[in-house]
Amino acid sequence: MDLIKIDDLEIFANHGVYPEENEKGQYFYVSIGIFTDFKAAAERDDLTKTVNYGEVCDFVCDFMTENTFKLIETAADGLAEEILFRFPGAREVYVEIKKPQAPVNHKFGCVSVCTNRKWHRVFIAMGSNMGDKQEYIAYGLKLLKNENAVRLLKVSDLIETEPYGYTEQDTFLNGAAEIETTLEPKELLRLLKEIEESSGREKTFRWGPRTLDLDIIFYDDIITDSPELTILHREMHLRDFVKIPLCQIAPDFVHPVLRKRICDL
Ligand code: ADP
Ligand code: MG
Repeated sequence: MDLIKIDDLEIFANHGVYPEENEKGQYFYVSIGIFTDFKAAAERDDLTKTVNYGEVCDFVCDFMTENTFKLIETAADGLAEEILFRFPGAREVYVEIKKPQAPVNHKFGCVSVCTNRKWHRVFIAMGSNMGDKQEYIAYGLKLLKNENAVRLLKVSDLIETEPYGYTEQDTFLNGAAEIETTLEPKELLRLLKEIEESSGREKTFRWGPRTLDLDIIFYDDIITDSPELTILHREMHLRDFVKIPLCQIAPDFVHPVLRKRICDL
């Protein structure tokens, strides 16, 4: 991965907890690091194929002056996220904001905050076994697509499968989607639950009938194991209704624990 850096962009703005900071304003110095792949731009010597740092500077200045935040943490977080959304080549971004005139009653060099955000690669398993199953899955995908923090990359065909665990219920329609997201695992889980609920899903019992089920199968190569969020799913590699759609969209993805490609599972 290549890196584009902007150091200490000087911006006069009004962020601060104290009202006089918001009224008077002060200088902030913003540094940005954008990880991107600029090989194609370098080969062709073509600005349109890289992240244009001039445009990034313009955006950072606008963002810092058009908003007034109490915390530079909020400004840094917002900047990092917006840069990922607005500049398609940006894969990962670092933001540092320095505030050398911060209201501190001591002699000091500078205070600053630093943050880092990136696009994460995630696979989601989708299922429905009530009503218009195809429509529920399409609805889930539409809501995901509407999120700034989500890019829908690939969607598998949907397959009809027999119910798992509790068999006295309608057959399922299952599929998988590959997305990239700036959300952290728990934030993504919260979003998926909101979408499930807004589809009219009611709490029944484990493996019971559902309008829409959205499960995180892989999130980069992280492994978590809590009841609220388990990645990787322990039995994923045994379940055809997860594996078959996944194999269609990501046959070469390597299972982070089993170290085998999906197509070989
Ligand atoms: P299931 O998907 O196992 O059939 P539910 O959709 O009812 O069951 O989910 C039950 C709980 O499982 C959710 O409240 C959620 O917090 C938890 N959960 C644990 N790991 C995951 C995951 N990887 N993806 C989605 N939900 C998960
Ligand atoms: Mg679920």
